[in-house]
Amino acid sequence: MPEPSRHYVGVDFGATKIYAGVFNASMKCIGTARFSTKAQRGPDAVIRRIGRCVQDAIDECDLDLKTVAGVGIGAPGAVDPQSGTVIFAPNLPDWRDIPLKEKLEKDLGVPIQVENDCNVNMLGVYEVELQSKPKHVFGIFLGTGIGGGIIINGQPYAGFNRAAGEVGHMVILVDGPECGCGNKGCFEALASRTAIFKQIKSAVKEGKKTILTDRLGKDLADLRSGDLRKAIRKGDKVVEKIIEDAARYTGVAVGNILNLFNPEVVVLGGGLIEALDDEMMPLIIKTARDHALPGTAKGIDIRACTLGDDAGITGGAVLARRCAKP
Ligand SMILES: [Zn+2]
Repeated sequence: MPEPSRHYVGVDFGATKIYAGVFNASMKCIGTARFSTKAQRGPDAVIRRIGRCVQDAIDECDLDLKTVAGVGIGAPGAVDPQSGTVIFAPNLPDWRDIPLKEKLEKDLGVPIQVENDCNVNMLGVYEVELQSKPKHVFGIFLGTGIGGGIIINGQPYAGFNRAAGEVGHMVILVDGPECGCGNKGCFEALASRTAIFKQIKSAVKEGKKTILTDRLGKDLADLRSGDLRKAIRKGDKVVEKIIEDAARYTGVAVGNILNLFNPEVVVLGGGLIEALDDEMMPLIIKTARDHALPGTAKGIDIRACTLGDDAGITGGAVLARRCAKP
């Protein structure tokens, strides 16, 4: 029996925001806190902000750090989970070989676990959302970038160099748009929020009419995924076409995964899917089934993640619980 006083904190650490949630022993979220990342201030300042965000979330629940058995963090990049070092984070300036676990343990005095954010999301979805406990699951998370998480035989699969699941860099369109990784036509360069925003901004430059500019101005400065949903619902054809293309590319990616992995469940999550679930999922599912080999897609559940924005904090808490001392 877990002690009722034991709590776990999950942290979704992203390039723009830090989101922490406190969970009780039955994995119910009892309080949260949000900070902006302020990545430009450098790793040490960001680590202090993560620590403060964790403390704020705990304070929100009228608890103190003594009742926390562990903190699990999903970090946006390559992570060595043994040492808790962030090896490289493409969207965070100067994040190379940063000992996140070591520094934060010194700050907070509680055990810290660090993993790649998509693996953490997948862990949260698997443990809390997929109650049927399927054996093989592939998760795809569409946000600023696109990442994946893999469960094989009920266990996270990391690969030889812990680089498995980099679905965002699967090439979908040979000679397509350039990707941040240096290749061309990666899934991420076609269907991430970054790619979609880029396409919308260049459509505006070409003089195409979209209602997004009415409210946000010509430079579309504060554009968010939710604005795209609102625009489509108001009949914006430019946005609709770009989102349709992104959904089709995502469907092709899922079709490839069905052929390669043949998982029982494919879960799609991340900010983009959360905002555009109704607009994207039907076309993603249809395209995936069209691209899967005959018989391959039979009975496979392709679904949108219902944990939404909480997948990261939930997975972080699950990670902390898995690693906590009995
Ligand atoms: Zn790439």
